[in-house]
Amino acid sequence: MRSLADLHCHSTFSDGRLTPTELVNLAYGNGVRVLSLTDHDIVDGLPEAFRAAERYSDFTLIPGIEMSTDVPGNEVHILGHFIDWHNPAFLDRLRRLQESRLNRARLMVEKLGQLGKPIPWERVEFFAGEGAVGRPHIALALVEAGHVSSVNEAFNMYLSRNGPAYVPRDRLGPEEVISLLLDVGGIATLAHPRELLAAGSLGDLLTVLTEAGLRGMEVYYQDYLPEEIETFRELASKYRLIPLGGSDYHGLGGPQQREPGDIPLPIEPVQKLLALAEERGALERARIAHAR
Ligand code: AMP
Ligand code: ZN
Ligand code: FE
Ligand code: FE
Repeated sequence: MRSLADLHCHSTFSDGRLTPTELVNLAYGNGVRVLSLTDHDIVDGLPEAFRAAERYSDFTLIPGIEMSTDVPGNEVHILGHFIDWHNPAFLDRLRRLQESRLNRARLMVEKLGQLGKPIPWERVEFFAGEGAVGRPHIALALVEAGHVSSVNEAFNMYLSRNGPAYVPRDRLGPEEVISLLLDVGGIATLAHPRELLAAGSLGDLLTVLTEAGLRGMEVYYQDYLPEEIETFRELASKYRLIPLGGSDYHGLGGPQQREPGDIPLPIEPVQKLLALAEERGALERARIAHAR
């Protein structure tokens, strides 16, 4: 199913395969007219994305970010849309997060060596390119070295939260991150809630996070089934969250991958997000299409 909007995508500035320009072009070609680039803990791809968006008169680009946080037993990812991504204190915080990602990736490569699955650090650096390093880059190096046959297998055998090569990130709580995002005028959305629902912790988390300023939840996501979407739509309504969504496109393949825009996200909640941004005076941070 094709949607006019996709609020969650990655580029080469984190662990996506496409440059921001390639991503914008692919999304536009797929019929997407409202896109947000939401790289992991980094905003450095936004200038290129905005330059690429300028080519299209009927295309809206929302500056975004996806921030990784931890709660006991689970990861919680928070999307920030309409952030003031030039804010110096925010940029400084992101720089420190990148340093911590780098140290953690080094430790994971060390662990893999101890497990008899050595990979050259230079290859991880190569796959990470100029942006934020993440587990998918280690996965690609594992595939290249012939230790596993796919990125998914690398996660299943070594890199997942319970995997033998996993190293946790510096702990950052979701409330702390929501407050960081609010400080730069962002609108905070809970990303991909499936695992949290399965863990039984979603209700309590939503109570705490809405209190902290959460305004949206991803309901239309990647391979979510119609009955899951219905469950999350009801939960979003209960907690007065805007039911948003995105493909979380990385371009790394795998059965769960969806193309940009290939999600059943209706336009009404996207209009609500835009209206909320306007209310907060944050709309000007997006590139708004002249003719919609
Ligand atoms: P990191 O930011 O280093 O913790 O890596 C997290 C990223 O790894 C997520 O954003 C996903 O893109 C990717 N990822 C997590 N689990 C899997 C998996 N099972 N298979 C493939 N990619 C995954
Ligand atoms: Zn990712
Ligand atoms: Fe995520
Ligand atoms: Fe993501």
